This record gives sequence, structure tokens and C-alpha cells, in this order.
Amino acid sequence: MNKIERLRAALAGEPVDCIPCGFWSHFPEEMQFGEKSVRMHEQFYNDTDIDILKVMNEHLYRLDVTVERPEDWQRIQPFSIAGSFYEDYLDEIRSVRSLVGQDVPILATIHGLLVSACHATDGPNQFTRLDNLITRHLKEDPEAVCKGLEAIAETLGELCEASVDAGADGIYYAALGGEEQRFDRKLFETYVKPLETRILERACRKGITVLHICKDHVRLPMYVGYPADAVNWAIHECGYGLKDGRELFPDMALLGGFDDRSGILVEGSRDEIRDEAARIIGEAGGRRLIIGADCTLPTELSHNRIKEAVAAVRELSAMQGEKGDYTMKITFIHANVFDGKSAELLKDQAVSIADGKIESVRPCDGEPQEGYEVIDASGMTMLPGLVDCHANIVGLITREQQYGVTPKTIASSTLRGVKEGENCINHGVTTIRVDTAGHHGTYALRDVFNEGCSQAPTWSCRAGRSAQPVATAGISATMWPTVPGRSAERSEMRF
Ligand SMILES: [Zn+2]
Repeated sequence: MNKIERLRAALAGEPVDCIPCGFWSHFPEEMQFGEKSVRMHEQFYNDTDIDILKVMNEHLYRLDVTVERPEDWQRIQPFSIAGSFYEDYLDEIRSVRSLVGQDVPILATIHGLLVSACHATDGPNQFTRLDNLITRHLKEDPEAVCKGLEAIAETLGELCEASVDAGADGIYYAALGGEEQRFDRKLFETYVKPLETRILERACRKGITVLHICKDHVRLPMYVGYPADAVNWAIHECGYGLKDGRELFPDMALLGGFDDRSGILVEGSRDEIRDEAARIIGEAGGRRLIIGADCTLPTELSHNRIKEAVAAVRELSAMQGEKGDYTMKITFIHANVFDGKSAELLKDQAVSIADGKIESVRPCDGEPQEGYEVIDASGMTMLPGLVDCHANIVGLITREQQYGVTPKTIASSTLRGVKEGENCINHGVTTIRVDTAGHHGTYALRDVFNEGCSQAPTWSCRAGRSAQPVATAGISATMWPTVPGRSAERSEMRF
């Protein structure tokens, strides 16, 4: 899959070869326009290898009327994108497209209705103020202000279309105004929501549409009904997590997971980034998911950190791919099931799997659920993966015990270990804890197995021993070494 195929599949809820990632940050002020901006986008893309490249838009909405009173908004007229200051932004999109090629998804940034109104009256970075002009005027005289917002919505709709014509695959619409302290819900739903819906409908007809609901404490349910392919909001800054998003927006992909201004992506170790990616995937499920952040990442954040997050998601996806597709939906029918709760086999069962988890085990009667691949398991027995607490996968062979360990014997012992791993899987053992004497092959094979390079169980080595391999090439290991505490530990494992 190339990146645009991957993104389209994720948006449609279809299987993906790995979960796509989309992160972005503003560039330093002197690099925000023209050729310099284009080069920064190229560098950001090359540094991070992200799946979606959002073209930052520093071209803020402008009005040719001065707004001082609510009735002034009525004089605002829509303007044509052609020949406007937005042409410079479209040029940046064209240049970015020509640099990264056709396979990389590009999203144009569209500052939403209210933030565009704020940019044009109070200037940049003023929207968080509760007393900014657009907020005050909309509360004072919504009918008059709405006339002006209609004109702005018309222009923004055209900008969405023009961005796709310039080479973007779609748009990233930054909506504002949903914060708890901003407007009462009725005002928002009467005057803001219909106009934003109109803009997004135009965007959806033209290309991929991502709805970004910006700022803290947003009232997410107010955005139900907005048309978009994916939704992104500050899950760390409001009461709505990824699972809530799944319920509120069942037809949209979710974009996000990481905190943006602090937390693991900004401050955590590489392992913490990886664990967080695994947690996000676990919470949201691998389907219809794009890993990203609450909002724009800090300008000064090292691109390496973003690259680590992208690499972690790829690695997790690869491991999952080896052991089963996140998105598969399968029902095994006519299986005999041993569930471990009793010695009895449950006869003729239907076992359904979705999102990598067993969803149900039930008697096999009636039609299988729709949308599930059906596999006939007649005559077969299903059972949970067995755990072997003490396996010897790579052993010292007789020759090694007699004549010592050499590079050649290490190679042959290790290859035998591969076969042992296959044997484990074929006999239903999916997890092993290896207690073999510290043969070099043990550690090499554990890493290879855990990377998913071979059909083998998940593997852990006994702590303590794994840190100090005792059989070293060239040194005779004529007997199993004695390790302190071994018998005590063994009796513990026997319960
Ligand atoms: Zn935001």
C-alpha cells in the first residue's frame, strides 16, 4: 500500500497494512511563506516519514470592510479565490505536491468560520479570548453577524475546492467555537453549525475532509452531524476520549491519541512513546484510526520524536499483521471449544473474532452475522493459547557439551530452535518462558521470534540469566550451570 491508499482504506474502515500517522507543527516565523515554507514542508516530511502531510496555512482571512459594530458584518461580501491573497497559499500547495509526488496524502489547512472572522478583525491568536469581537458581536446581534459569516462561509467553501484543484487530496478544517465558555448551545447550533456544515459539504464533495475541533473543553456532541471523513479533537483537554468519539461519530475515522503540548510525545522516552502508541491502538481499535495529536505540535519539537512515534506505530502494526489483522472479522463455525473452565468440550460452537479479540462463543445455530468471514472448523478443536512456563528451545547439544561451543554449533543449535518454535505453535503453545542455559542462540532467537519473523510463540527469558549468557563461543560448557534461586523459582511457577 502506498500512503494515499493506506489513508483512503483507513478512512473507509477497510484493512490497512499499517495504521497511518498524521502530525504537524507550525514552522518558525521566518519560514512560513513561499519557497521557504515549501522547503520546510519537504524537510518535515523527509524527517518524519508521516503518512499525511498537512500544508500549514499562515495566510489569514482578510476583510475589506472595517468592523466596529455588529451591523458592520452585514456589509461583508464573499470574494473570489482567484486573484486573491490566497493564491500564494495555493502556490505553496502546488509546490509541496510537486516535491513529494502523488502518493503522499496532502491536506490543505482551512481555518474555520469563526477563527477566520477573528483573524480578520482581531488578528492572529485572539480566538481564545472570550471577549474577542466575533464572540461579542455574535451574542449581541446574531442575525446581523450571521450575514457576514455567510459571506465568509462562501469564500471558505471556494477555498476548500481551490485547494484540492491546486493538488491537495482534501482539507483539514479547524473549527472553533465549541468550547464550554464560548456560546450557548442554541446560538451555536442556530448560527454557526449550519454555515460550517455548508462549507464541509462542499469540501466532502471535492476530496478528503478532516474535521478538527480545536481548543480545550469542547462540547463534542455539538459537532454530531457535521459531514467529514475523519474527526480530530483535544482528547487530553476535554472530557471526551477516543471511545466517546467512536460512539458520537460512528461513520468517521478518528485522528489523534497523543497529547500535543506536553506529555509523552513531547517529553517521554522512546519506550514510553511506543507504549502510548500501543495504548491508543488498544483503546481505539486499529480500524478507522489515524494516529496523531490533539492539535498542532510545538514548533521546537524535534522531528526525531515524531519519527519515533511513526516508527513505533509501524512496528506495532507489523507485529499485529504477523499475528492477525486488526480489522478482520471472522466467525469459526462448528468448532469444538475447550475453554478451560471445565474438562468438557463445548460441541458445535460459533466463535466470532473482531478487532483482534474474541467477541463471542455461542452454540452454532442460525445464520452467521453479516460482515464476518466464515471458516468451517468442523472436526476441529479450538482452545486458548497454551503457556509453557519452562521451555528449552535452544539447548546445548551433546556435541557442545563434549567439545565446547563454537560458532558452527551455535548456528546449528539455533536453527534447531526455529524448528522447536514451530513445534510449539503447531501444538497450541502460544507463549513460552525459556529457561535454557544461557546459549547465545537463545537470545538471538527470542528477538527474532518477538519481531514476528517466524511462526513462533511469544517468548520471554528468565530474568537474571538473560542478562549474562554463560555459554560463550570457544569456552567449554560441559554441564548446565547452577543458578542460585532456581529451585525456589520453579516451585513458585508450579503454584
Ligand atoms: Zn487545534
